Amino acid sequence: MGLGRVRRRDALVAAGAAAAGAATTVGAQVAFADDSGPLPFYGGPASLLPAPDPDTPIATELRVVWRVHTPQRALALTFDDGPNPDRTPRVLAALDAAGVPATFFLRGDNVVAHGAVHKGSVGRHELGNHTFTHTDLGRLDLAAARSEIERCSAAMHTAYGIVPTLFRPPYGHLSGAAVLAAAAAGLTTVLWSGRFRESGFRDQPDGIVADAAGQMHPGTIFLGHDSGTAERILSIERLPRLLAALLAQGWTFHTVSDLLALSA
Ligand SMILES: [Zn+2]
Repeated sequence: MGLGRVRRRDALVAAGAAAAGAATTVGAQVAFADDSGPLPFYGGPASLLPAPDPDTPIATELRVVWRVHTPQRALALTFDDGPNPDRTPRVLAALDAAGVPATFFLRGDNVVAHGAVHKGSVGRHELGNHTFTHTDLGRLDLAAARSEIERCSAAMHTAYGIVPTLFRPPYGHLSGAAVLAAAAAGLTTVLWSGRFRESGFRDQPDGIVADAAGQMHPGTIFLGHDSGTAERILSIERLPRLLAALLAQGWTFHTVSDLLALSA
């Protein structure tokens, strides 16, 4: 697999801060010098083909969604990285008070540790797959990416008796192998078209509400987190106000699967 190769490249880029020409900076991103040669045609992190001559492909197609095409003022709120014993109940309480559903993309390891948090969510909210350990699938080969996805779905089945149909890749990162792994598991890959931007509102946290509301368009899939960094509390604390504002503006709330069904 290509993991060793990727790590070697990282090491070169780290050294590249002092080695002119090894990497160039583009905005906040680093453009990698092509130091490692071509990636393998079959296998490795990039290929969408698991083996030569795949007479029996492991999937027939893949669906990747950022936003749903609909004329309706319909939204899907999503919360990643839980379940979390402190924050998830706060999000669920805000959703219940407003009478709206959401979709939670769960880490398998957190399901094992804190699965009871969502015992009452099945049938009311949607639960999707967010890998078992929240690793960067863009760096894994097919076997490792499939393992991350399958272990998460297995943990969800054990805890909730359901098989998820949606998948969100950690960090929004996908490789050929990760795409293939999601397709092989029959999962629709769900990204997002709006998100809480907590880091921009540390000094004026109430501004999160207007910032989030301003990102809503018909069919928006909106990203939040019910686990993670301390500053994410800023959005959870203001979720009731955001929901009230959006309901007053006539927005309707749907699980991601229900929003997909509205696709025009
Ligand atoms: Zn995540």
